Amino acid sequence: MSENVIILGTGPAGLTAAIYTARANLNPLVVEGMQAGGQLMITSDVENYPGFAKGIMGPELMAEFRKQAERFGARFVFGDVTSVDFKSKVLRVSTGKETFEAKSVIISTGASANLLGLPNERRLMGKGVSTCATCDGFFFRGMEIAVVGGGDSACEEANFLTRFASKVTMIHRRDQFRASKIMAERVLKNPKIAVIWDSGVEDVVGGDEVKGVRIRNLKTGETREMAVAGVFVAIGHSPNTRLFKGQLDMDAGGYLLTREGSSRTNIAGVFAAGDVRDHVYRQAVTAAGSGCMAAIDAERYLESIHV
Ligand code: NAP
Repeated sequence: MSENVIILGTGPAGLTAAIYTARANLNPLVVEGMQAGGQLMITSDVENYPGFAKGIMGPELMAEFRKQAERFGARFVFGDVTSVDFKSKVLRVSTGKETFEAKSVIISTGASANLLGLPNERRLMGKGVSTCATCDGFFFRGMEIAVVGGGDSACEEANFLTRFASKVTMIHRRDQFRASKIMAERVLKNPKIAVIWDSGVEDVVGGDEVKGVRIRNLKTGETREMAVAGVFVAIGHSPNTRLFKGQLDMDAGGYLLTREGSSRTNIAGVFAAGDVRDHVYRQAVTAAGSGCMAAIDAERYLESIHV
């Protein structure tokens, strides 16, 4: 059986597309991977999602999205997609165990955290190195930790981590934050946060667990070691598009390209929504908005092929 629409990913974009396509009676099938719920599952308070004046926890917000999609009949299957075949009119999505066929596909596979690429970073992942403050912050109660990066994520993580850590040191490669003014001010006003500017982390130090970081001042070249029990890497994200290489057009960073003012990719019937195609805004609300666009585009496409 060929599905009307298959949605890949269950972040704000995918679940909004599910709500809209379900309400349009398209009976969508949503493929939910390992990172169900997307990046909001690993954030804390979401303070800027309109409609939640008091803020809402990321996982709670995603649970609401999912309930709303289910309420209108969206179906969910678990499994990480291992391959896709968009070369013929019948679009195919495979999870290894199963292959699904569809007339349209909405890709909302999001983006994943970048790593610094240091010799000991991967080895000590989960042993003091983390990319998720909400997941791992609790383990660092009363300890000193470092956060690498200078964007909104790094500032948000640093602030959040002061709930647990005795001291948080942010290490940023430039002399000013990239983060929005409000986030940066919160960091600079927080007495538990120190900032080391113009510096990069050369390596993470430790045997079985993190003992510290080796820092290089990028202006003077001077290096030193700082003792910390944890290192939170918050240096941005990369799109989850490896599966689509050779089939869908992407920019140099691997973000899916869509036709201007729409969610249409270079393949008829394949649409993209959320962070997988957006390296500029990357907000829950913009992802949700583009999920809505993709659903409407898919609906019109299906109408045009007389489904
Ligand atoms: P980002 O804005 O791209 O910032 C990444 C930071 O990491 C930058 O400060 C960058 O330094 C640094 N960096 C990148 N590669 C590095 C490397 N190899 N070594 C050392 N430092 C490196 O990413 P983000 O903070 O994850 O934010 C992404 C988007 O999500 C943004 O649009 C942001 O506004 C949004 N966001 C919003 C909120 C919120 O509103 N509450 C929370 C989180 C994220 P440079 O500054 O030198 O480039």
